Amino acid sequence: MRDGADVIVVGAGLAGLVATAELADAGRRVILLEQEPAPWLGGQAFWSFGGLFLVNSPEQRRLGVRDSQQRARQDWMVTAGFDRPEDQWPRKWAEAYIAFAAGEKRSWLRSKGMHFFPIVGWAERGGSIPGGPGNSVPRFHVTWGTGPGVVAPFERRVREAAARGLVSIKFRHRVDALMLSGGAVDGVQGAVLEPSAVDRGRPSSRLPVGEFEFQADAVIVTSGGLGGNHGLVRTNWPARLGAPPQQMLSGVPAHVDGRMLAITERAGGAFINRDRMWHYVEGVQNWSPIWPDHGIRILPGPSSMWFDALGNRLPAPLFPGFDTLGTLEHLRRTGFDYSWFVLTQRIIKREFALSGSEQNPDLTNKDVRLLLQRVISKSGPAPVEAFKERGADFVVSSNLGDLVRRMNALTDEPRLDPVALEREIAARDREVNNGMTKDAQILAIRTARRYLGDRLIRVATAHRLLDPAAGPLIGVRLRILTRKTLGGLQTDLSGRVLRSDGTPLPGLYAAGEVAGFGGGGMHGYRSLEGTFLGGCLFSGRVAGRAVAAILGGSTG
Ligand SMILES: Cc1cc2nc3c(=O)[nH]c(=O)nc-3n(C[C@H](O)[C@H](O)[C@H](O)COP(=O)(O)OP(=O)(O)OC[C@H]3O[C@@H](n4cnc5c(N)ncnc54)[C@H](O)[C@@H]3O)c2cc1C
Repeated sequence: MRDGADVIVVGAGLAGLVATAELADAGRRVILLEQEPAPWLGGQAFWSFGGLFLVNSPEQRRLGVRDSQQRARQDWMVTAGFDRPEDQWPRKWAEAYIAFAAGEKRSWLRSKGMHFFPIVGWAERGGSIPGGPGNSVPRFHVTWGTGPGVVAPFERRVREAAARGLVSIKFRHRVDALMLSGGAVDGVQGAVLEPSAVDRGRPSSRLPVGEFEFQADAVIVTSGGLGGNHGLVRTNWPARLGAPPQQMLSGVPAHVDGRMLAITERAGGAFINRDRMWHYVEGVQNWSPIWPDHGIRILPGPSSMWFDALGNRLPAPLFPGFDTLGTLEHLRRTGFDYSWFVLTQRIIKREFALSGSEQNPDLTNKDVRLLLQRVISKSGPAPVEAFKERGADFVVSSNLGDLVRRMNALTDEPRLDPVALEREIAARDREVNNGMTKDAQILAIRTARRYLGDRLIRVATAHRLLDPAAGPLIGVRLRILTRKTLGGLQTDLSGRVLRSDGTPLPGLYAAGEVAGFGGGGMHGYRSLEGTFLGGCLFSGRVAGRAVAAILGGSTG
């Protein structure tokens, strides 16, 4: 043991907390380094919606959903589309993670005191082709308490271990380099940043006021992805998704800067699948921003009509909430950085959820009375209504012509033709009462409503958008929002960081988003959603336990 610690963990997000908690449970001494101010623990997970991918859960079964590990595996592998030699470890991580999600995950989390909202969401529904990408059944389990509810049990364990003297949490310590001796990583160097009193999530000062150096037998990097660094997002943007957008919103705080990826590469670790990323196409500018370019993702139900910047309806099966990257690829081909939802008050009330703990005070604060308002109130949840009234991307009108005029006023040029838009909407509306309709979106709405969870709270009955009783009409300009880094540091099934020749870099481990949630990209090209927090929980646990085992600890 050196510097009073066996292990150094870099980054106190969810993955770092889980790894640290596991190490402390095994009696190991840990220095947990975090560049942000006290008491910020939990990184992005604190802001998250807390959605977790679980397979064949009691919540699914109660709603009549028949799921299995085999079905989840099929969905995952088709969605991931692994097709590269370097997918060897990501694929193994995917297999291990699916088994975890279908097995121990729920009972382990329940044993830590976590509970789940009883209605399981159906995210990333995929196309209409059987065996195609997407979730063939609902699997998105929202944690009671959202992101803070996911962080709490692990933060508690780490703080208890700190009180016992096993963990030393050092805030405002930014790691700038990994140290090597004899080819093995045995420490870190960095800068002590000046104290900061900014509110959580806001960018804190990066002014150094000192230096530090710590040594230990192993280092675990859990520093998150790169979605807050638009320069890096553009550099790594894949040609298959067209040109990178000129303008993007940030779905993550500024600390998600990707610096540790380059620092670990310099020490010899391999960063693979850097062109795989998970950005959303339903971003809206936050009217009350916390971090720079702060955007919020709408988690949409299937009913809004989706138009590109020129007013062309998106083709089937690119309906809201069906295929994130397929839609992104399609929209990049239009040459514009935005698209449009047109919907009604009846749809927004039921179908708009906003991703983020602060946007869901009912679920985050476990407020059942407020939650019931979602069901009984005529308006949408208060945060959705606030966006409708104050958001820069929302326009509302009881008259389509006026709505289109206001939509056009939001863009540099008026690109929407009110007559063409009315023709499209009227054509779709005519199909609502046609039992034999060929309108694929209306068929998708009907299919969704056959699922009890959707029928109860998530999907509006198919109705005419131009029916004044369903109004007013709402137009929402949607922008591209950066969020998750799917590639990352290549790791084996113990979380050991590998060099580009596939051999382990001794002493170095990685977990969470910086490791592509396991292996350097266990999602492949695409995610089934709710798999990121779970990937941090799983890979943080694996790395923590593996290091504890190597150092001779035992987990409880
Ligand atoms: C609004 C929002 C909603 C989301 N909703 C969901 C959801 O419903 N379901 C889901 O599965 N996922 C969701 N996610 C994604 C998920 O929250 C993240 O992928 C996950 O929390 C990443 O955790 P992490 O521990 O790997 O990294 P992070 O949370 O990014 O934590 C990394 C930590 O390391 C610190 N750090 C970085 N570099 C250094 C350095 N050099 N020195 C010291 N410290 C450093 C950072 O300050 C940070 O605290 C959401 C994310 C956001 C932002």
